[in-house]
Amino acid sequence: MRQAAAMLPPMKILPALLALGSLVVVSAPAVAASAGPRFYGDPPDDHHPWAVHDGNRPQPKTVVPGTFSTPDKPGKPPSDAIILFDGTDLSKWQTSKGEPAKWRVVDGVMEVVPGSGEIQTKAQFGDCQLHVEWAAPKEVKGDSQGRGNSGIFLCGGLEIQVLDSYNNLTYADGHAGAYYGINPPMALALNPPGEFQVYDIVFRRPVYKNGQVLDPGYVTVFVNGVLVQDHTPLEGPGGHMGRTKPGPFPEKGPLRLQDHGNPMRFRNIWYRELPRRAVEGGTDGYLTQEATMAKRKEIAASIREDAARLRNPANPMPEMQRLLESLVYEKDATAYQKAEQMGNQYVASVKALPADKLAAKRDEVKGLNDVYRYLARWKIIPADYAPKVAVEALIKEQGWDKKK
Ligand code: MG
Repeated sequence: MRQAAAMLPPMKILPALLALGSLVVVSAPAVAASAGPRFYGDPPDDHHPWAVHDGNRPQPKTVVPGTFSTPDKPGKPPSDAIILFDGTDLSKWQTSKGEPAKWRVVDGVMEVVPGSGEIQTKAQFGDCQLHVEWAAPKEVKGDSQGRGNSGIFLCGGLEIQVLDSYNNLTYADGHAGAYYGINPPMALALNPPGEFQVYDIVFRRPVYKNGQVLDPGYVTVFVNGVLVQDHTPLEGPGGHMGRTKPGPFPEKGPLRLQDHGNPMRFRNIWYRELPRRAVEGGTDGYLTQEATMAKRKEIAASIREDAARLRNPANPMPEMQRLLESLVYEKDATAYQKAEQMGNQYVASVKALPADKLAAKRDEVKGLNDVYRYLARWKIIPADYAPKVAVEALIKEQGWDKKK
């Protein structure tokens, strides 16, 4: 209960506690109860398979955060990062022909050997959060695109430009942090040459279905913590001189680093895989009606299974509550009838109790009443649902509706 309350803004705590207070008594397994309230926020609808604040919704995975880099020392990646270069060797990299990468590793840093060609990861991946650190030579040579040039090519071939843009004029869509040839960075936020620069990139591939775009794909880039690409929609890979058009990308591809003839250095390269978006089968976000209904069915089925596991004739409440919960997601006829039957039996059995034992059921019965009220409010059960009417009558009869 404490956990659930901690997730809510202060103003919402009171009603949450009230809702939980009634549920803790009614409620079923300890694990389920601790995940959050039930019969509380607005229920699932045509585009959201979960209720608002849904206690059945899966918990996000836990990630142990890493540490930030300093000029002298790379930071530690988060716990779920897939490491592409940690300063030791190029075992995760190869040439475009699949041969061993020919760049140098010196003092925990990999360095372009000019003329040796680009290198690419053996790993293939698509949507990602990508972290790359790079440094241009301290001694400035050349200018514009000839100075401190490399590039980070994501799946589908788009280049996030790596360039020593520190006091260096060049075309805007070719600066450090540009979606090269397509969108300039919103700012030039570089450290002086020789110092490391930190790129954090969020990449979402375009999603197409039957030739129709469902999501154009986006790239977001931070350079040294400064936002330079803000969810920029993709328009193909971009490139030198040619204008590219939006279109599908491969699902996965290697990450490539460019050899543009400058001895650029890289360190601390890692990525995290991102969950699927709603348009590609993910179940968070605004879903199609079809996907929502499919997910609601699945949730309902798993709750019904849980209800069956809780079956206990001596204490029918946990099973009944889970069955009622399942109706929020899918009005399965069998579950509906069973819950109604159990409700009728429950009220009859409570009413048959001797006075002292009946009095002890007060909170449980009132909790069930709250559940019925929620379900009736959202038309999941009718207002004249027999067990609801019976529970209301019992509460009135016993004076449990009055303040003590
Ligand atoms: Mg480049």
